Amino acid sequence: MKRIQAEIAGLKLGGGAPIAVQTMCNTHTQDVEKSVAQCLEMAAAGAKLIRLTTQGFKEVEALDKIKAILRNQGIKTPLVADVHFNSEVAIAAASVADKVRINPGNFSQVHKDAQSQFARFIEACRKHGTAVRIGLNHGSLGEDIVNRWGNTPEGMKQAAMQWLAMCIDEKFDNVVVSLKASNTIVMSQAYLLLFKAMEESGTVFPVHLGVTEAGNADQGRIKSAIGIGALLSKGIGDTVRVSLTENPVNEIPAGEQIVQFFESKDAQRLYEAVRNQNSRTPILRFTDLGCGKDDWNRFIIRAAALFGVMLLEKEIDDFTIAEAPYSEKKMKALKENIQQGARRVFYHPEYIACPGCGRTQYNLEETFNKVKERTSHLKGVRIAVMGCIVNGPGEMADADYGYVGQGGGKVTIYKGKQPVLKGVPDSEAIDKLLQIIEKDQK
Ligand code: SF4
Repeated sequence: MKRIQAEIAGLKLGGGAPIAVQTMCNTHTQDVEKSVAQCLEMAAAGAKLIRLTTQGFKEVEALDKIKAILRNQGIKTPLVADVHFNSEVAIAAASVADKVRINPGNFSQVHKDAQSQFARFIEACRKHGTAVRIGLNHGSLGEDIVNRWGNTPEGMKQAAMQWLAMCIDEKFDNVVVSLKASNTIVMSQAYLLLFKAMEESGTVFPVHLGVTEAGNADQGRIKSAIGIGALLSKGIGDTVRVSLTENPVNEIPAGEQIVQFFESKDAQRLYEAVRNQNSRTPILRFTDLGCGKDDWNRFIIRAAALFGVMLLEKEIDDFTIAEAPYSEKKMKALKENIQQGARRVFYHPEYIACPGCGRTQYNLEETFNKVKERTSHLKGVRIAVMGCIVNGPGEMADADYGYVGQGGGKVTIYKGKQPVLKGVPDSEAIDKLLQIIEKDQK
């Protein structure tokens, strides 16, 4: 078995290297000053990799400037260019960034063309010593894959294995792979299938873990801890990103708390303690989880990475955390969020919200919170709030309704995969979304 170790400007991923926590700027990359300021904050918070939106050649130029400024200030954190659709931009980014994230399947609708563009891109990465992430998300698979395997974990695995096989043929192995989804079952199954297929093929590439469009606050952290925890608990995962619709700096402690839980062996001790109870409804005391009472975020992440993962995998049906120093209301909400994050019981709407990036067209965090406030009664309805029209519609995957920023203060409202209202001023868009949902609910 060959275990590949990727190297990104000195940072090693996979092959026994420590798990690296990463994040992504939500600034406009062309705003060099703001992007540098955010990168500095992220580096100070402990980010091991920082990704920036790189949608065009102007962003490649800006990324070059950002990197030069950071390096001048002694910040060596590797920078990753996030490129979609345009292979020429990806090739240009390969000469500037330390790593480029692409989905080769969306270079072209024609698979053969996508393959030849990917081959040219790999050559550029080889020439510049640039690493690659093949990042395929649920909902953004190529047409040929969807026609054969559907928009499924199997389809995600097949797509990734196709591109990894091409990397092996081209003898290029500075590669990391990810298969994200916002649905924790789809996400964990896709990664498990991929890992098994890589083992069977004899070459295991480093794996980047993440639950995409996880949302924010407790729900976003819990969903991420469940999806990422389901893989880390099996020794799968070399780098993680917790995607939050918040200040991206908050993603770093959340990622570190998940990683530390599994690296510290606390996870193993607690899984065993639960399994030894031989009960579908186990009980632990708050103190068993190893958190202080002032550390709510760490506590919910540990509770989700333990009980949420066991619920997801149907090892248990319910759980109790006794003697917790929080109100009954808070503990009830935590339990509901963990049950829903594991997709066992649905108490609330299912929110799918992207974390935002340099493509975001409006104040995403504020809008998402308003949408949540106004739709909290719509149990079981899947509502997506996405920052841009370029990737948003594909990546909101199986949402029932979508609020998608289209630029210039306008929003497109989706019902399933269909845009039903275009060009809605953002001041009216939440009302319009609500009207459409409520009409359907009658
Ligand atoms: S959907 Fe959101 S995170 Fe994804 S590219 Fe668009 S704005 Fe960025």
